[in-house]
Amino acid sequence: MLKLQKNYSLNDLNTFGFDALAESFIEIDSRDLLVEVVEYCQSNNLPLLILGGGSNLILSDQISGLVARMLNKGIEIISQQGDQLQLKVAAGEGWHDTVVYAMSQGYFGLENLALIPGTVGAAPMQNIGAYGVELKDRVAWVEVLDTQTHQFLSLSSLDCQFSYRDSLFKSVEPGRYIITDVVFNLTRDATQLNLEYLALKDTCEALAKGSSITPYHVFDAVCQLRRQKLPDPAIIGNVGSFFKNPRVSVVEYERLKAEFPALVGFADGEGYKLAAGWLIEACGWKGKQLGAVGVYEKQALVLVNHGKGDRRQIETLAEQIRESVQQRFGVLLEVEPRFYP
Ligand SMILES: Cc1cc2nc3c(=O)[nH]c(=O)nc-3n(C[C@H](O)[C@H](O)[C@H](O)COP(=O)(O)OP(=O)(O)OC[C@H]3O[C@@H](n4cnc5c(N)ncnc54)[C@H](O)[C@@H]3O)c2cc1C
Repeated sequence: MLKLQKNYSLNDLNTFGFDALAESFIEIDSRDLLVEVVEYCQSNNLPLLILGGGSNLILSDQISGLVARMLNKGIEIISQQGDQLQLKVAAGEGWHDTVVYAMSQGYFGLENLALIPGTVGAAPMQNIGAYGVELKDRVAWVEVLDTQTHQFLSLSSLDCQFSYRDSLFKSVEPGRYIITDVVFNLTRDATQLNLEYLALKDTCEALAKGSSITPYHVFDAVCQLRRQKLPDPAIIGNVGSFFKNPRVSVVEYERLKAEFPALVGFADGEGYKLAAGWLIEACGWKGKQLGAVGVYEKQALVLVNHGKGDRRQIETLAEQIRESVQQRFGVLLEVEPRFYP
C-alpha cells in the first residue's frame, strides 16, 4: 500500500517559489517503490510527475495525479583504471553536492558544472551545461526504469541522444524513462581542464596567482562567476536561463551582425548560437517588471518571481519577450524549462 500524501504543497519544492498544490505526493527512495508508483499510476490512469529539485519546472497552481519526488541516495566508484574512474550516483543526490563530493575525493571532470541547482537524476534531462562543459561530456551511461516495459535499462551516452539542452528524455520520448542513477567518467588527472570560456580562464588565472591552474581553481572560479551573475533561488525565485540560445545559419548570422554589430554569437557546428540574453537586453527588457514577475537586473536571460508571481504572469512576460525579439531580430526564442502540466 503506497503512503500517498494528499493535497501536498509544492511551494518549497519549485525554485520559482510558485504556489502549487499536488493532488497526491510521494517520496521515492528505492527502485521497488518506483516500480510500485508507476504501476499504481498506470492502473489508475493517473498522470505522474517525477520531481527532482524543481529548478527547471514551471508549475500550475493545481496539479492533478501524483507527484513523485526522487530521493534515492548513493555514490560509489564502480570501476577504475589508472587515473580514470567511473562514479555511479543515485538520481536523488543533489547535483552540486555531488560535484563537491567528487572534488573532495580528487575526482575531476565536473568542476565546470558547479553550483547548478537540482538533482543528479534530472541532469541528463536537458543535458545540463555551463562554462564550456555539458553533462554528455562526462556521462558513461544512464540507468532508467522504462515505464512501458517496467524493465531497468542502461542507456549509453549515445542512446541518450544528448544535444544542446536536450535529450531522449526531454523531447524524443518524454515521460517514458525515469532516471534512477547516472554513471560518470571522471579522472584523477588534475591537468585536464576546460578553460575555453574567457571569463573563466581570466578568473582562474587571478585565483591561481601565477601558479598552475587546478580543478579546484576552476571550481572556485565557476562558483564566483555564477554568484555574481545569477540570482540565488533561496532569495529570489527563478529557474536559471529561461530561453535557449537560438541557433541561426551563417548567412543569417552575417545579416544580423551587419545590422547589429554588437550582436553576441558563437560559431557552433554549421551555424551560430546567438546569446539570447543579449537579444533580450537589446529589446530593453533587462530589469523590467510585469506585475510580480520580471527580468533579472543583472542577466536578461533569467526571469524572476518578485514574490507573488504565478505561472500565468510568467507565460505573459515570456510571450511578450519572444514577440519583441522576433520583431526586432526575426529570431524565435525557445523556452528552456518545462511547463507542467
Ligand atoms: C539559478 C539557476 C541556475 C541554473 N543554471 C543552469 C545551468 O548553468 N545549466 C543548466 O543546464 N541548467 C541550469 N539550471 C536549470 C536546472 O538547474 C537544471 O535543469 C537541473 O538539472 C534541474 O534539476 P531538478 O532536479 O531541479 O529538476 P526538476 O526541475 O525537478 O525537473 C526537471 C525535469 O526533469 C524531470 N525529472 C526530474 N528528475 C527526473 C528523473 N530522476 N527521471 C526522469 N525525469 C526526471 C522532471 O519531470 C522535469 O521534466 C539553473 C537553474 C537555476 C534555478
